[in-house]
Amino acid sequence: MAAMFITCGPHRLPVRFHPRRRRLALVATPEGVEVRAPAGLSHRHIESFVRAEQTWIEQALAEGETRQTCLWGVPTSGLTAQQAQKVLKAWLAETLPRWCAAMDVTPRQVRVRAMRSSWGRCSASGTITLALDLAQLPQTLAEYVLVHELAHLRHLHHGPDFWALVDRHLPDRRERVTSLRKWEKRLRPLAPRGSV
Ligand SMILES: [Zn+2]
Repeated sequence: MAAMFITCGPHRLPVRFHPRRRRLALVATPEGVEVRAPAGLSHRHIESFVRAEQTWIEQALAEGETRQTCLWGVPTSGLTAQQAQKVLKAWLAETLPRWCAAMDVTPRQVRVRAMRSSWGRCSASGTITLALDLAQLPQTLAEYVLVHELAHLRHLHHGPDFWALVDRHLPDRRERVTSLRKWEKRLRPLAPRGSV
């Protein structure tokens, strides 16, 4: 039973009291982070403990979110390189023709590979390579990467013309990029470079 909640930034953490417990502890559970406390400890005491551990809490919550999310119809936890390849292929079959038509571009080829240093690449000859790890991102972010690479078929640089084209198709491009930077900090690659 959680009789009490402690606020930590935007989060509400349940506090569970245990009669025999001696020390305060934070525990990451599938539902989030909870506080375990000795019975009778004051709200203020628990609150100051939680405040001091805010960084740990934020990290644990972010990791839990990444592990548990079901982003592409398959659980992200335990996603294999083969599954990632499959979901991305299915997604491309559906979205690629739509974006090619909207942007009036025709890539020579679009392929999915294990990539370490970038999310996508577009060669001068028109081959687009997308990172396997896109399957670990929300689809809106994978979509940004796809549109970014398709825009390179018109502008093979990151100049104003390039961004104007991306922004015309994705007006919320900046928010997507900000979100992408956050996600990439906490992802672990699905496969070593070149293995798929
Ligand atoms: Zn680029």
